[in-house]
Amino acid sequence: MAQLQLNEKNTTTPKPEERKTRSAVVFTRPFKFTIPCKVCGVVGHLNDDCPYMKRVPNNVTEVGKGYEIVTFRGEKHAVRMLCGYCHISADHQSDDCPHKSKIIAWKNSLRKPPPVGPVTS
Ligand SMILES: [Zn+2]
Ligand SMILES: [Zn+2]
Repeated sequence: MAQLQLNEKNTTTPKPEERKTRSAVVFTRPFKFTIPCKVCGVVGHLNDDCPYMKRVPNNVTEVGKGYEIVTFRGEKHAVRMLCGYCHISADHQSDDCPHKSKIIAWKNSLRKPPPVGPVTS
């Protein structure tokens, strides 16, 4: 009886040769940039790898939304705009923050003494 069961098992064991795969035809498409860089608008690099981050050409006066040109030691660089209220890279600066009033109100509410007992809201 035991012998018969063993034989049945053997017939279902997959042959190792069948696991061969033709790896040559697997999708080996190289990564291609299709979205233009947010900073300079050129397709071919990521926003953070933009050459404008190191140096902005003199004839360039504007960079993409969310970035701005700063002059440091006579050289222009593109930097990410940072909002002092949102504290994330944003497409606006502190003065133009659309969340300004909301964040100020929220910060003020944090200054209040914490409620006693478990918070139920
Ligand atoms: Zn770029
Ligand atoms: Zn903001």
